[in-house]
Amino acid sequence: MRAVDIILRKRDGAKLSPEEISFFIRHYLQGSIADYQVSALLMAIYFQGMDAKETAALTEALVHSGETLDFSGFLRPVGDKHSTGGVGDKTTLVLLPLVAAKGMTMAKMSGRGLGHTGGTIDKLACIPGFRTDLSRREFMAQVKELGVAVMGQSPEMTPADGQLYALRDVTATVDSIPLIASSVMSKKIAAGAGTIVLDVKAGSGAFMQDAGEARQLAEAMVDIGSVLGRKTVALITDMDQPLGHAVGNHLEVAEAIETLQGHGPADLRELSLELGAELLAGSGIIEDRQQAKKSLEQSLADGSALQMFRRFVAAQGGDAGVADDLSLLGSSPHRLTLTAPQDGYIGRLDARTVGNAAVLSGAGREKKGDDIDLLAGIRLYKKRGEKVQAGEVLAEVSGSHRDKLQAALEKLSDAYCFSEKPPAPQSLIIERVAK
Ligand code: URA
Repeated sequence: MRAVDIILRKRDGAKLSPEEISFFIRHYLQGSIADYQVSALLMAIYFQGMDAKETAALTEALVHSGETLDFSGFLRPVGDKHSTGGVGDKTTLVLLPLVAAKGMTMAKMSGRGLGHTGGTIDKLACIPGFRTDLSRREFMAQVKELGVAVMGQSPEMTPADGQLYALRDVTATVDSIPLIASSVMSKKIAAGAGTIVLDVKAGSGAFMQDAGEARQLAEAMVDIGSVLGRKTVALITDMDQPLGHAVGNHLEVAEAIETLQGHGPADLRELSLELGAELLAGSGIIEDRQQAKKSLEQSLADGSALQMFRRFVAAQGGDAGVADDLSLLGSSPHRLTLTAPQDGYIGRLDARTVGNAAVLSGAGREKKGDDIDLLAGIRLYKKRGEKVQAGEVLAEVSGSHRDKLQAALEKLSDAYCFSEKPPAPQSLIIERVAK
């Protein structure tokens, strides 16, 4: 087999065999296929696409490029959740204890925030003492004992994905559905879960701004899961405006805890319940989704989800007192408020602009490795569809660095669009994609 022949076949629209795909990835990782040939293949895939079988074969090749987790000896079903990234998306913090309290094991590898989107590892760093740098042994032991653990993405897993992504980034081949789908799913499959729920965001703050493209990505990922024997469901959800009222790490942790206490924002609660119901139903813990959702509502009402959160935080060295005292998360020394310039309705609250304002406040990274201010962020008092009067407070920007807040406030004011009439309602869950 020669790399050039594989490139030629894909360039001319042929379907690649699993052997050809695995040959290419294996030799790339070993250094015997050069970056320029991989770049050519990526561009050919970008233009010619890949069918479900090829995409699954690419996913498997990425999975086999590194270590994997194996939960086959575990008695309880193991689940995982992935979000394609959004603004104010703290759902993982609610979902993990929520479903773990119902007997689902959640072994989650998460990332840090980048650009206008946040990351779970940064949020957890707001909890005093919380460790996400668990060794593989610590992680597996906690998953087994408690049923829930979170650690940072391991460089030993799917190393070929990391290398391919770096090349895609500089060859204008990131936004290809089969390449994104295989990249995301390889990390989920390598992490060993039997049931996977995907939250594919659509809207201005999402990776896929258009709902049609989000559906294509969701279908490609669900297909991979199904070919590779993992129960996989995707929900396409609205990310045209931020989720909840809090954007920025410590504010988001507080909002997740409020939701576990039973009084968080309606959209965050709803999304957590829907994703949780998919996990319980997909793994067979409670087969009927409506029943599963009711049961999860009960876990919020009776405090068992919050109790699981306390145990999870304590197991990872964190101060479980945060579950009852949000002031332990700290508070920002500086704040500025944004007021409505006119009477009317909030016609739009642009998620991406809010995310960019949060980055300016210090809450997010412009590039990998940048320091962030865990106390920086934005509280949205008014969201899409709400009626406001001139002078009313719309939002507040806060953080440790006063000099960053004015620019953040100006950016945030661009996120609000006003209308005389209420905008058409937008559903949070746009579509469910399953096989
Ligand atoms: N996230 C990933 O993990 N991979 C991609 O290709 C795009 C987004």
